[in-house]
Amino acid sequence: MNEQKLSKRLEKVAHFIEPQSRIADIGSDHAYLPCYAVLKGFASFAIAGEIADGPFRSAQDQVEKTGLLAQISVRKGDGLEVLEPSDEVDTVVVAGMGGPLIANILENGKRKLARVKRLILQPNIAAKRIREWGAREQFQITAEEIIEEDHKIYEILVLERSNEPVDYSEDELFFGPLLLKEKNAIFRTKWQHERDTWKKITENIEKQGKTLENEAKLAELHAQIKRVEDVLK
Ligand code: SAM
Repeated sequence: MNEQKLSKRLEKVAHFIEPQSRIADIGSDHAYLPCYAVLKGFASFAIAGEIADGPFRSAQDQVEKTGLLAQISVRKGDGLEVLEPSDEVDTVVVAGMGGPLIANILENGKRKLARVKRLILQPNIAAKRIREWGAREQFQITAEEIIEEDHKIYEILVLERSNEPVDYSEDELFFGPLLLKEKNAIFRTKWQHERDTWKKITENIEKQGKTLENEAKLAELHAQIKRVEDVLK
């Protein structure tokens, strides 16, 4: 992977950026995504935000090496704190982290999102936490994609501000409102795999015997398994 050729996952993320956007890629690591977005004309300006020293330096090196210092600003900081109103960022990307961490980054920096029109989010796990945050903050899901790369399955969510309250059912929060409508083959593979994992966990817990904690965990797992089986019917 490099700034010209992204992984399938990051390429899908990049293609949700509208031409000539002003983007912030939070947790940019190697900064391949902002470099690619600028080189391909998806972005006219980009911020590569990083919290950690090593990835921050690697992003700086990459942007310098690619000759994009005029269009990409590499900034060190926690989440959305690296954004300034004068940047006029309209699109925020957060990819390759857990859903709870992405939701925390959005929640902690939500005052920086006033002018942002589009969020492109790629959680590695627990996308539900992002959908719940979006519904609370009146961001609706305008696109969702599920892809498979190197035997791993990834979800990509695009959120945009809504003028109306956003209300999703529990199933829509869990599976994704658009992915749930489509129920494609990758979606089925993902949830069959999750269900099988939960079944194995329940069997192990059942072997441990009855405790209050085990009972509560089992009830939760059985409910999740039923939710998935109902949807996969
Ligand atoms: N976005 C790239 C991708 O999808 O390939 C890199 C993902 S990498 C697994 C996660 C990166 O997020 C790490 O470099 C980490 O330092 C950074 N990170 C984690 N929490 C952060 C935060 N609160 N603010 C900025 N960066 C963060």
